[in-house]
Amino acid sequence: MKLCRFNDGRLGIVEDGHVRDVTAALDALPAYRYPLPPFDPMIANLDAVAARALELAAAAPALPIDRVRLSSPVANPGKIVGAPVNYQKHLDEVRDNAALHHNVASTMAPIHTAGLFLKATSALVGPGDGIALRKVDRRNDQEVELAVIIGREANGVSAADGYKYVAGYAIGLDITIRGPEERSLRKSPDSYAVLGPWLVTTDEIPNPGDLNLRIAVNGEERQSSNTRYLILGVPELIAYASSFYTLRPGDIIITGTPEGVSPIQPGDVISACIEHIGTMEVRVRAA
Ligand code: MN
Repeated sequence: MKLCRFNDGRLGIVEDGHVRDVTAALDALPAYRYPLPPFDPMIANLDAVAARALELAAAAPALPIDRVRLSSPVANPGKIVGAPVNYQKHLDEVRDNAALHHNVASTMAPIHTAGLFLKATSALVGPGDGIALRKVDRRNDQEVELAVIIGREANGVSAADGYKYVAGYAIGLDITIRGPEERSLRKSPDSYAVLGPWLVTTDEIPNPGDLNLRIAVNGEERQSSNTRYLILGVPELIAYASSFYTLRPGDIIITGTPEGVSPIQPGDVISACIEHIGTMEVRVRAA
């Protein structure tokens, strides 16, 4: 199933270029009271929401997908976990280019040494929201990544069990200001984490470790690779992250970017595609 969020809070099932409006399926969610739980309620109750959505879909109005504004398919993640330098050829290009590494040792280290980082949840947007660039006098880069959406609590899990904790997948854009500061600052301005175009449940992804991914800017291809080249694959990343902190439903892991990171400017149009997930178009403007 492909589940999208669109037009300010509506829920849809995506099929054949259309969105079925199944917003009423959100009535399957329990009523939460303050203090709100530290996870995303829809992802924590995804089985119930998806079952209700399927019941509603047949009679639901169908809207052309290009006529809706797509939001992040996860509304309230507890955290967004980033994997730096998780493709060898990206590590090579960073080490070869001072404009990328700025002589910061952790930007030139492989993931086993550099560890993981966090992006602020306030950075999260959907493709329809676009990217609002800050510090436009500095280099801002696009990075296309397979995004993993955690489905249930994971604490100290093994890589052998890692896939059991996944709710689904999406495309992630890890927008990045190059420079000497901490990654958490350079990668967290509002709109610097794009998730979309929808959540694809695990049953539709035959092998997360063999997915073509690519990105074009203004029609010109910038990155093209496959997740088989990930240094730490999806289950290994879940094991690694959950050895440091508890992962909860709706937490997002962006798995790292392949080689070909390159600058973006206000006015650019990004098109990102991952096999078995889909394609999303994202517009870039100045903040
Ligand atoms: Mn990245």
